[in-house]
Amino acid sequence: MIVTVTLNDMTLPSWASHVEDKLAPMPLLLVQAFVDTLDRDLGTDIFAHPDEARAWLADAGLRVPEPQKPGRPEPGFADDLRLAREARDSIRALIGRNGGTGPLTADDLAPLEQVLGQAQPRLEVTADGRARLGPDPAALPAPALADGLLGLLLIIRDAQADGSWDRLKLCGNPDCRWAFYDRSHSRRGAWCDMASCGNRLKNRNLRARRAQAG
Ligand SMILES: [Zn+2]
Repeated sequence: MIVTVTLNDMTLPSWASHVEDKLAPMPLLLVQAFVDTLDRDLGTDIFAHPDEARAWLADAGLRVPEPQKPGRPEPGFADDLRLAREARDSIRALIGRNGGTGPLTADDLAPLEQVLGQAQPRLEVTADGRARLGPDPAALPAPALADGLLGLLLIIRDAQADGSWDRLKLCGNPDCRWAFYDRSHSRRGAWCDMASCGNRLKNRNLRARRAQAG
């Protein structure tokens, strides 16, 4: 399903409508939108509610939902939802490395190991003579969540090769950790600058200054 909204003169896919600002280029935007399904600053989480999570994962092409009887949860979706949440934490930790956090732990990587164990990647040779590892992000939806998440890892691999990955960062506000794309010339952007995050930081700094002054 392709539904678009127009925001700030950019046409965004519906699965990225929650990102709003400091958007990564396609297809890295899909990785950013996946991680930013959790908004710690506002206390919202698209993956907190199974129906909302199921719809978002389908919309983003990361998973084809199985038919669901009315009023009943989709069989097996609880396992997929847990994997989606855990892989989201792992990919957030990967992005954190761009801000200089320490090496990833085995716990950080375990959900991605699970993805690699379950996914069924294919090497394809295309009509234009290129050897390509799939699933191809441009050819999503993925049949199963692990394949969709493998697609995210392939997007990350390509972004690491072309250098755009280094600009994807986590907000320096420890209560936020929002993934944002740093387009600044210096590449030294450290904050998501979302209105809510910035205001909270400003208020906190103001309180700290008043406390010092008092
Ligand atoms: Zn922030």
